[in-house]
Amino acid sequence: MNTPVFRFAPSPNGELHLGHAYSALLNARLAERMEGRLLLRIEDIDLARCTPEFEAGIYRDLAWLGIEWERPVRRQSEHFGDYEDALNRLIAEELVYPAFMSRGEIRAFIADTEKRGRLWPRDPDGVPLYPAFDKALSRRERERRMAHGALFAWRLDTDAARARLGDRLSWTEFSSEELSGSEQIEARPEQWGDVVLARKEIPTSYHLSVVIDDALQSVTHVVRGRDLYAATGVQRLLQELLDLPAPRYFHHRLILGPDGRKLSKSLGDSGIAALRERGASAADVRKMIGI
Ligand code: GLU
Repeated sequence: MNTPVFRFAPSPNGELHLGHAYSALLNARLAERMEGRLLLRIEDIDLARCTPEFEAGIYRDLAWLGIEWERPVRRQSEHFGDYEDALNRLIAEELVYPAFMSRGEIRAFIADTEKRGRLWPRDPDGVPLYPAFDKALSRRERERRMAHGALFAWRLDTDAARARLGDRLSWTEFSSEELSGSEQIEARPEQWGDVVLARKEIPTSYHLSVVIDDALQSVTHVVRGRDLYAATGVQRLLQELLDLPAPRYFHHRLILGPDGRKLSKSLGDSGIAALRERGASAADVRKMIGI
C-alpha cells in the first residue's frame, strides 16, 4: 500500500482555536498510527486577510501542542501559477464563465426577488446562489465587456460540468475517527450553484487551490471539520474535471463553544495562544477536546 499522506491546512487569518487543535491532533495521531506523513499547508490565498503574524502563531501553537510536520511547508500564496494553469484549462474547455454581477447587484436582485414573494435558493452555508444570467451572454458580449475592463469573477458552470461527467459523482467517507469502515456519499455540487473559482483580487479560490494542492502533494486522506462536508461535493467535481485523483475523506466533529456554537477565530477565549498564556498545558488542551 502507498504511504498514507495527511494534511492540516489552516488559513493564517486569525488565531488557532480548540477546533483547529482537534483537527491538527487528529491528523497527527492518524498519520502516526498508519505510519504515514503529515503535511502542514498554509492556505493564504487571501492576501488581504492573511498575515505573517498569524502564520507565525500557527507554527508556534502546533509546536507547543507537540505536533511535527514535514518541511518545507507549502504556502499557497507562492503557487498562484499552479492554480492559474488549472483555471486556464477550465476556461479553454468552457466550463467556467465570466460573471459580471457585483456583490451589490446580486444582493439587490435577490432582495427584489424575495420582496415579490419568491424565496431565492441558498447554498448549504446559507448564501444565496448566484443568479446565473451571465451564462446567456454571447461570446461577443463577454469579450466586449472584458475588453472594456468590466470587473468579473470566473464561475464554474456547474450544470455544464455535471453534464460533461454524466455519471454519478461520489466520495469515500470514513465512518469513524479511527478511519474504520467507510461509505460512498453522493456529491451534490449543484447545492452550491456556480461557485467562484477566481476573481480579480484573489486569482484563485479555496475550492480550486485545495484540489490542486491535495493532488500535487499526493494527499490520500483529507481529515477536516464537519463544516466542510458539503464543500466536498464541489471539490470532487473539480477533481474529475481536472483529472485529479480523489483522496478519501473524514469530516470530524466540531468543537463547540460554551454557547453551543461553532468556534470562530474571533473567539479569543478558546484560542490556543490565550489558553497557553493563562497557564494551560498541551495536555490540558488535549483533555478539553477529548483527544
Ligand atoms: N483552509 C481551510 C480552513 O482553514 C481548511 C481547508 C481544508 O481542510 O480543506 O478552514
